[in-house]
Amino acid sequence: MVSNRISIDSLACTGCKDCVVACIEQLQQRTQKEDDCISSRIQVLGTEPLFFLTICRQCIEAPCVDACITGALRQAVIGVMLNDITCIGCGMCTMACPFGAIWLNKDREKSVKCDGCPNHAIPPCINACRPEALQLEQKARIAGTHRRRSSEKMITIERRVDGPETSSYMTHGGNG
Ligand code: SF4
Ligand code: SF4
Ligand code: SF4
Repeated sequence: MVSNRISIDSLACTGCKDCVVACIEQLQQRTQKEDDCISSRIQVLGTEPLFFLTICRQCIEAPCVDACITGALRQAVIGVMLNDITCIGCGMCTMACPFGAIWLNKDREKSVKCDGCPNHAIPPCINACRPEALQLEQKARIAGTHRRRSSEKMITIERRVDGPETSSYMTHGGNG
């Protein structure tokens, strides 16, 4: 098992959603079934030209873990892990995450977040990304710059799009 923290270069991202498709495919392989209720662990929020790629940053001090009332979210060596069985779908974590990187699957009433694909040396979403907007953080030469650029783009979008609709989308995600 490996710890995969993924860095985003938001300016390199074209919004093509190849990463989203790759994530869903690997999730279907994990569960050995084509489940319509499976939602990607990475999302492109909004539409051109105001879109934003979001994925769990595997925070060392994770607000979502602190917010989780059942202990379904916990800090592990390989990152922040979500226990699907003990999650009750209360949504507290979605409000706590500053990146909009954890959301509720409304069909299943469970939270959804990236686990970094610990069984893959290179996660499928990274392999699928043609403009190389996704990188393993330990390999990203300018990870700090990526994070700052992501924050700047997120702030720009929040300022330019009407607040209530955007904040709802950001906290709950587009895939349900
Ligand atoms: S879901 Fe959000 S708060 Fe939780 S570890 Fe990921 S980025 Fe951090
Ligand atoms: S939705 Fe699930 S993971 Fe999120 S805070 Fe509630 S119980 Fe914890
Ligand atoms: S690391 Fe794995 S679970 Fe996370 S977004 Fe990429 S493919 Fe999906």
